[in-house]
Amino acid sequence: MASLRFLKGLKPAAAAAVHCGSAHAFSTAASTPKVYKPSFLRRNRGKILASLAVIGAAGLGYEVYAARHPQAQLPWDHTKKTIAILGSGWAATSILKDLDTSEYNVVVVSPRNYFLFTPLLPSCTVGTIELRSIMQPMRYITRHKKRQITFVESNCTHIDPDSKLITVEDNSEIVGLVSKQLIPYNYLIVACGAENATFGIKGVRENACFLKEVWDARKIRTRLMDCIETAAFPGQSPEEIERLLHMVVVGGGPTGVEYAAELYDFLHEDLKDWYPELAGKIKITLIEALPHVLPMFSKNLIDYTEKQFADQKVEILTNTLVKEVQQKEITVQNAKKEIESIPYGLLVWATGNTARPAVADLIKRLPESQKQRRGLEVDDFLRVKGATDIYCLGDASASKWAPTAQVASSQGRYLAKYFNNLAEKEKARKLLAATGGDPSTIPDEDPFEYDHRGTLAYIGSDKAIADLPGNIHVGGALTFYFWRSAYLSKLFSIRNRVLVAFDWTKKIVFGRDIGRE
Ligand code: FAD
Ligand code: NAD
Repeated sequence: MASLRFLKGLKPAAAAAVHCGSAHAFSTAASTPKVYKPSFLRRNRGKILASLAVIGAAGLGYEVYAARHPQAQLPWDHTKKTIAILGSGWAATSILKDLDTSEYNVVVVSPRNYFLFTPLLPSCTVGTIELRSIMQPMRYITRHKKRQITFVESNCTHIDPDSKLITVEDNSEIVGLVSKQLIPYNYLIVACGAENATFGIKGVRENACFLKEVWDARKIRTRLMDCIETAAFPGQSPEEIERLLHMVVVGGGPTGVEYAAELYDFLHEDLKDWYPELAGKIKITLIEALPHVLPMFSKNLIDYTEKQFADQKVEILTNTLVKEVQQKEITVQNAKKEIESIPYGLLVWATGNTARPAVADLIKRLPESQKQRRGLEVDDFLRVKGATDIYCLGDASASKWAPTAQVASSQGRYLAKYFNNLAEKEKARKLLAATGGDPSTIPDEDPFEYDHRGTLAYIGSDKAIADLPGNIHVGGALTFYFWRSAYLSKLFSIRNRVLVAFDWTKKIVFGRDIGRE
């Protein structure tokens, strides 16, 4: 304190010198006042910031310009081998990003002509984000590759590993004179994901909504608003209003939890203002067959989520198994092993994955090597066991890794590198053969290794949970911002990032849209 009082009586320059503890500086300052000279960085702070902003804007502008103006591409080359890729999801686009197409001809087959950023799909069911913001058209990707890529919007319905042919069928609304084709391949990459599992439970396909594709999110949004408007129809009985406003989610995995969380936000932040007489009657129930939700998360985050849901009045029925789904109610075996009927207005089914028909068909064709029903078994190099030149990755495969986007894209990067190296090795082999060298000196490919970066999930009320490497388990509002920034950075393109950021801002300013499409 004494030194502070002493400093108060001095001129600023001298005080600074004393504070720095320099007696010499003090004595000099007393005779010739020291002129304060700001550093170069301080003097030019404004100019530096302005220059950085101009460079950043120019970089961004160039990226946007380059994305909109694809260059001329190499044509199809009959001397090169052909890779057929099934799918336009996480696995397929991850391969396409890194594959050197100057070395191969590539055919992509998918019924969807866009990539879908699934982690933000639950947000689209209530209008926090618009669907187009998380879709990236495939041609925005394929047109930027060195060689022309053939994109065929169709389903692969059959794989013939003996004749190396795939059958593709156009099942879209508008079908031309030709709707079925056989496509030959040298290498086939199965990246067609998985279907929704229903375990053969009666009535699920007819009455429930799934949450995997764009049309699922659209259907949920429409049905939700339809239930609410129907409940508001004059003269509706109290029982019918209660049924219509009961939103049931089956499956306490991350899809079910994130959907229930988004629904709660919609109810709490928007519906209560626009439907004041009904909002208090809207009920959300999450049904899970196991004793807890989110089995893949650490125990403390499971507890945190269950408590958060209890606070939000989202009911969780654990140890409850859905047995049958009717049009207006579901039959469950509850925790006491009693059979019970639960009336519902909207039912969202999120109980995980099962193999797509083309994959199931290939599994049946390779009975000696394929023992799993949920997907194709692969070796350490993602080669399908029992087949030649067929590779499989992502949700279409049955491996020791969870069916996640993180695994699928990591496998995609691996396969792209694998095929780039394969082309290089092929050239080296030819060169060695011509020069009498030893081809055995060419190194083998490394097996696929997965580096897990952590698991995140949104749990409502601007809170998220994260299980991160290094035994870090965190949850709450800060984790929510981490969740948002992680997904914003992972979106496919700058266009997607701008659109999603705009949607989030729009929601804060105007709220969510409650119009029924
Ligand atoms: P997909 O991405 O499903 O792509 C499959 C592609 O194959 C699609 O383009 C499809 O149209 C196409 N296809 C379908 N049938 C055929 C056919 N017969 N022939 C040819 N093509 C076909 N994972 C995470 O890691 N983090 C998350 O936060 C996360 N959130 C999710 C949220 C939701 C709502 C959902 C549903 C999943 C989420 N996942 C998440 C899981 C992740 O989406 C999947 O693991 C990932 O999509 C798998 O990638 P994939 O390429 O194998 O399949
Ligand atoms: P899931 O397989 O992870 O969970 C499905 C849940 O449904 C299970 O807990 C299961 O016990 C329950 N269930 C099954 N049948 C039932 C029945 N008849 N009655 C009641 N409950 C039943 O499925 P998901 O949540 O769709 O996720 C699929 C994959 O996508 C997983 O690998 C998941 O990790 C991944 N994913 C990740 C995220 C994320 O990281 N945030 C988000 C969504 C999905």
